[in-house]
Amino acid sequence: MSFHSLGLNADILRAVSEHNYSAPTPIQRQAIPLILAKRDLMASAQTGTGKTAAFTLPLLQLLSQNTALVKGRRQIRALILTPTRELAAQIAQNVSDYSQYLQLRSLAVFGGVSINPQTMKLRGGVDILIATPGRLLDLEHQNALALSQIEILVLDEADRMLDMGFIHDIRRILAKLPKKRQSLLFSATFSNEIKSLSTKLLTHPAFVEV
Ligand code: AMP
Repeated sequence: MSFHSLGLNADILRAVSEHNYSAPTPIQRQAIPLILAKRDLMASAQTGTGKTAAFTLPLLQLLSQNTALVKGRRQIRALILTPTRELAAQIAQNVSDYSQYLQLRSLAVFGGVSINPQTMKLRGGVDILIATPGRLLDLEHQNALALSQIEILVLDEADRMLDMGFIHDIRRILAKLPKKRQSLLFSATFSNEIKSLSTKLLTHPAFVEV
């Protein structure tokens, strides 16, 4: 199977082909068509399986499909929550690589560094925000960003976020998001805590396990 049969558009396929990926990985084969069909998703996948591209590629396509619907000032349309700054930086690099032929802006925000440069960059307008939970809430508290126009939410490494004690932050973030949105939950393990979070987060989800 090739990337061409997954329903991705030419601009995304061109960026993918420049990475010399010969074929989609199992998580990509299963998740990409479901995400493009706008399903909520609960996916079990470890790091190294190609899970970042599995959610990033269809997310980019969905956002680039309906730019006409977005009027006025650029608001954040996709939020990717991840536990650590290293992961946030890595995902942001992937998003930037895969979106090089698209007109979408992305930014990573995380704690442990000064907040002001992040606030300045947010003012320029961002379509896709990759964030650690605590810094996201700090920025929201300062009115540096709005979460009211989020169309797609991704929780990456959800089990690690819970292990690191982010459950309260995640609950607070969820309460600020529009009810009508697509949500994707990626986790290496499916504990009872993850299952309980998923029932709050996901609507009629598809399940994918690799
Ligand atoms: P991840 O599981 O998202 O951390 O990805 C692990 C590594 O696999 C990253 O370095 C990706 O660039 C790479 N990768 C993602 N998808 C593919 C693919 N279809 N073929 C080869 N490598 C890939």
